[in-house]
Amino acid sequence: MNFDVLRSPVQFIQQGGISANLDWLREYEAWFECEGQGISDAVDRAGTPWLRMFDQLGARVDEILYPPEYWRMLQHGYRAGVLWRAVEQNSLIPSYLLLYATAFYDPGLACPYTVSLSTLSPLSKYGGTELKARFLPNMLRHDDRVWQGATWMTEIKGGSDLGAAVETEAQQDGSKWRLTGDKYFASNAGAELAVVAARSEDAPKTVRGLSLYLVPRRGEDGRLNYLIRRLKNKIATRSVPTGEIELRNSEGWLLGQAEHGIYLILEVLNLSRVANSVGSVALAQRAIADAYSFAEHRTAFGRPVIEHPLLRRQFEERMQGLQAALKLAWESVRLLDKVWREQPPYSESYDLFRLIAHLAKYWTAEFALQTAKWAMEVHGGMGTLQEYRAERWLREAMILAIWEGTSHRQMLDGLEVMRKKGAHRLLFQHLSGIAPEGQLHEMEARIERQLTLPEADREGTLEMLFSDLASLTGDALLRRLC
Ligand SMILES: Cc1cc2nc3c(=O)[nH]c(=O)nc-3n(C[C@H](O)[C@H](O)[C@H](O)COP(=O)(O)OP(=O)(O)OC[C@H]3O[C@@H](n4cnc5c(N)ncnc54)[C@H](O)[C@@H]3O)c2cc1C
Repeated sequence: MNFDVLRSPVQFIQQGGISANLDWLREYEAWFECEGQGISDAVDRAGTPWLRMFDQLGARVDEILYPPEYWRMLQHGYRAGVLWRAVEQNSLIPSYLLLYATAFYDPGLACPYTVSLSTLSPLSKYGGTELKARFLPNMLRHDDRVWQGATWMTEIKGGSDLGAAVETEAQQDGSKWRLTGDKYFASNAGAELAVVAARSEDAPKTVRGLSLYLVPRRGEDGRLNYLIRRLKNKIATRSVPTGEIELRNSEGWLLGQAEHGIYLILEVLNLSRVANSVGSVALAQRAIADAYSFAEHRTAFGRPVIEHPLLRRQFEERMQGLQAALKLAWESVRLLDKVWREQPPYSESYDLFRLIAHLAKYWTAEFALQTAKWAMEVHGGMGTLQEYRAERWLREAMILAIWEGTSHRQMLDGLEVMRKKGAHRLLFQHLSGIAPEGQLHEMEARIERQLTLPEADREGTLEMLFSDLASLTGDALLRRLC
């Protein structure tokens, strides 16, 4: 097994048969090797950036104070095309390739790019002509004046049950809306544009009553349109500022039809979940690569620890798991690229995409977390020291399993799309010919049995089934020749 390929995200992607011509991405990677990684390490160590809330005359400015090197690192991905390539090349594939390479060096940095992409998509799909003319060109710039996006749904009462927890209200004001409420976890605070979940006064107090609004940082009069109450002090992903946002009569525009809001919110989340899957695989690759470099040079019992059979075997198994995880994550990218322009009511391809996206988000995040823990162990005591990166990968991996919907949420949403749309049958057709037929039949029978159980048992006993389904899917995709 060739472990050297792990040292480069581009080489690993290429070896996985994912894309052929990646010269442009190789340049991106080279910049991180010589400059970006150092900046990223410093940002992680510096911790939460400062929030300057007032200018010297007492006016609210809400500026996040990052060192200039941070902005250079951040702009690097926008210039490389994480946003503009999606539109100019009419495909999300280049964006997700960039997200993979970014997350290999800095999983938190992949967040601003992801949420910007998740803002660009609903704006370009559901925005009216005027709205698009006003805002889209700013997001598609190739230079450092590019506008960033953000996706703010979660409030203090919780992120899993948005229907019950979102209290932000939207009131119509001519062709615009005025939003009032507080967002508790708001990544990329300070972004020029955000898509925000809120409900109008007369909408039902359920998930069906939510709509999606586009909210700019500055209103039409040039004043701050939302306030940043504070920034969160987080265990990791320190290269994205996550804050609390106050919306006070903030100007916003409704995207799509009000009663379709929850579909749009889920579209936004699905883009981010796929990005999370890709980022999880990149993090796992990085953790194994660093562990391998250490194990090659660390000696015990007279030889490098990598040469001891037990450790060698573990490396081989991790590599196998990594390749399957990459296939699973990339299948969610491939399917997303086919369906992301769809609007409700969606096709069966969209249902299949949803199931694979939930499997991928769940499986890759858990794999990344276990792999980061194992990689720390391979480093022994050194792995626990803040001086080296193994400790950072474990901190970063903890967040990957939580944001964009926890693993519980992925399982339950995956169950829903199987129950309501029969997505498991679409999956088995999709895997037919590449997974052993016996395995597919056995798994199908298990799922059908699960779906007939009373609700408490159906959910209570779900994890083993969902995990086996994810593993079967990843292994089958690994068998397929790209
Ligand atoms: C660093 C960071 C950045 C974030 N950035 C953003 C952002 O930019 N925008 C945004 O909208 N959100 C953001 N979030 C919020 C994130 O999406 C939520 O943390 C996540 O969705 C979980 O919601 P919660 O934390 O409120 O947990 P809760 O919803 O309170 O859930 C608590 C626990 O209960 C479990 N649970 C809930 N319901 C069920 C159920 N039916 N069955 C079984 N278990 C269940 C959950 O899985 C979880 O383990 C961010 C979070 C973090 C950590």
